Amino acid sequence: MRILIVEDEPKMAEALRRGLEEEGHLVEVASDGEVGLRLGSERRYDLLILDIRLPGRDGIQVCRELRRRGVPTPILMLTVRDDVDVKVEAFESGADDYLTKPFAFAELLARLRALWRRREHVDLRLQVSDLILDPVARRVTRAGREIALTPKEFALLECLMRHPNQVLTRAMLAQEAWGETFDALTNVVDVYINALRNKLDRPFARQLIHTVRGVGYVLRE
Ligand code: CA
Repeated sequence: MRILIVEDEPKMAEALRRGLEEEGHLVEVASDGEVGLRLGSERRYDLLILDIRLPGRDGIQVCRELRRRGVPTPILMLTVRDDVDVKVEAFESGADDYLTKPFAFAELLARLRALWRRREHVDLRLQVSDLILDPVARRVTRAGREIALTPKEFALLECLMRHPNQVLTRAMLAQEAWGETFDALTNVVDVYINALRNKLDRPFARQLIHTVRGVGYVLRE
């Protein structure tokens, strides 16, 4: 899952980032409301974790504005106060759930899973040919056979599967999978694509990942 954390306290943001990355998620952090609003509106995330107390625009304002702009992403709000008024305000601004600091990381994970489950009527699984990727369960199967991927391999494959039949440049893939634009990463992309091919293509008759010479990669039947 791609998750945006909007949190101004560096320690908190870093702890959340590390924990969620260890769970295999792709995480970006915005340290104030303005940046959170910009990223949340411009980029596609599966989930937003939004602190209420932020410098500049607070979490309630950011949430309200995201909803006004039609962003449907589930939003989990964080605050230090166990205050009924704030909870009501959070829900009224369009948040889906609410967690009071300090909290156990296990509780955060449980709540995130519950948020995704609530959207179960939307089938989030991606399929190309006999290859299926489930971003919620974080499972990949091909022809019914389970394939174990590292978090970065998973992220790269998820990106390719979200844009089937579309040629993606190494730079685009690097940005999607690593969340940053590093020219240096474009060579790393080749290494990871190679690893993916060994797991996803080599054991099967039909090749799905294709190289477009001088441009990048495409996933197609
Ligand atoms: Ca804060």
